Amino acid sequence: MSKVFATAVVAAVVVNQVLPDDQRTTSAFQTAVGYAAVAAVLIGASRLPRRDRLPWWLFAAGLGANSTGIVVRTVLGGEVPAPSDPLFLALYPFCAAAIAVLIRRREIGRDRTAAVDAATITTGLGLLAWVYVIAPAAADGGVTMLGQATLAAYPVGDLILLAMMVRLLRGRGARGAPFWWVTASMAAFLIGDTAWVVLRYLLEVGYGVDHVATLNRSVESLFLVAMMLLPVGALHPDARWIAAPAGAEGTRLSRVHLTLMAAASLIAPVVLAVQLAQGAVVNGTAIVICSAALFLLVVFRMWQALREVENQARQVRELARCDELTGLPNRRAWNDELPRALESARRDGRPVSVAVLDLDRFKLFNDTFGHPAGDRLLKSAAAAWHGSLRAVDTLARYGGEEFVVLLPNAGETEACRVIERVLAATPLEQTFSAGVAVWDGRETSDELIERADAALYRAKANGRNQIAPANDPVSNLPGLS
Ligand code: GH3
Ligand code: MG
Ligand code: MG
Repeated sequence: MSKVFATAVVAAVVVNQVLPDDQRTTSAFQTAVGYAAVAAVLIGASRLPRRDRLPWWLFAAGLGANSTGIVVRTVLGGEVPAPSDPLFLALYPFCAAAIAVLIRRREIGRDRTAAVDAATITTGLGLLAWVYVIAPAAADGGVTMLGQATLAAYPVGDLILLAMMVRLLRGRGARGAPFWWVTASMAAFLIGDTAWVVLRYLLEVGYGVDHVATLNRSVESLFLVAMMLLPVGALHPDARWIAAPAGAEGTRLSRVHLTLMAAASLIAPVVLAVQLAQGAVVNGTAIVICSAALFLLVVFRMWQALREVENQARQVRELARCDELTGLPNRRAWNDELPRALESARRDGRPVSVAVLDLDRFKLFNDTFGHPAGDRLLKSAAAAWHGSLRAVDTLARYGGEEFVVLLPNAGETEACRVIERVLAATPLEQTFSAGVAVWDGRETSDELIERADAALYRAKANGRNQIAPANDPVSNLPGLS
């Protein structure tokens, strides 16, 4: 069905191009195509789950208004504001609302970076629209005030639609075929409107007057394409995924995107340069306002990007200091922490102890119950030990089935008492051996650990499932220091 409609787009354009130059005939044909598109979008929507239909209904309403506008223009005619203008203009809010619904459905949680990107591009192009379309329309003496407002409403509608499209494209969510058909349709509307403005301008300066009809017809074909691409998306088998919620991946800052942002930001100075070259700065105020807005948006975007990088750096730092299996601080974190703890113990004049723990016969456990069971034991033991330590103590995984504990403000008796409690908490009737060393106030972290390790070795040699206090540091023995 979707493919049939895609073929029909080509056929409609061909027919439109060869129709005789008669307003009634061309209008009738274009209206018929428009209503066919409305019907097809509604059919597509009716095949979707109930809650996925709203955006398509809104698109259909926009297309319906636009098609009715063609009829009214042909029948009633009229200068701006003509009765057909509100109908043509209704296309913008309906389509913008449809895209807004899509964005809401596709993205859970707010994405301010995409909004800033959309604001930047819209501000840049908004200045162009102001300088070349809106301001001249407002100054058009041949039209009533309402007429001027109507003329200005078209580019404003385009800008709103453009902002929503950029927001949609910069946001998250699936990008299947229907997504791109909708994007192409909206792009065709926007290009058609822009072509219309350019065409009027060319005619005004007397360029291309001989080809008015052909050029007009081509722009109308563009609008036909825009109208018919929506049903191609609506009838696509994947149509419902266009509103599917996305994962949480952030927005990317690709090269294309940076180029677009740079181009949008440069519009203000370029417009100023053009007006300077023409000898008069006509839109000074607008240029100043847009330049300031663009600067602020770019600075804000930079701040957002920096914050994102900082967040990621913090996550990486945290990951690098955390043991994956047990969630405990790893050896790297421990090596950072221990000298700091010794330093603060020196400052406070309080004792500090370390204990080195090693599971007993863990290889046997692995061999008996399997490696995954061994992993589970490490995990549950870490949790149980952590729970039976004092709040000030730090448990870290030193490597394999070896753990270390930092016990601030604990001498040998207190440290051994705490580690006894930890030993009793070991799950699955497993045991460990441990060495406990009290810092002598002078030795390095490495020397302290070494003494605790030597004590652990003795605990193992003495039959395991026990805690051995370390010998006094060699350097502190009388006659050796
Ligand atoms: P001892 O009482 O003398 O300490 O005996 P042991 O078997 O515990 O000591 P040994 O050093 O011979 O074996 C340690 C085992 O720990 C060997 C290794 O496969 C196992 N191991 C080390 N890291 C992990 C891990 O992350 N997961 C599991 N499942 N096993 C590990
Ligand atoms: Mg070991
Ligand atoms: Mg062991």
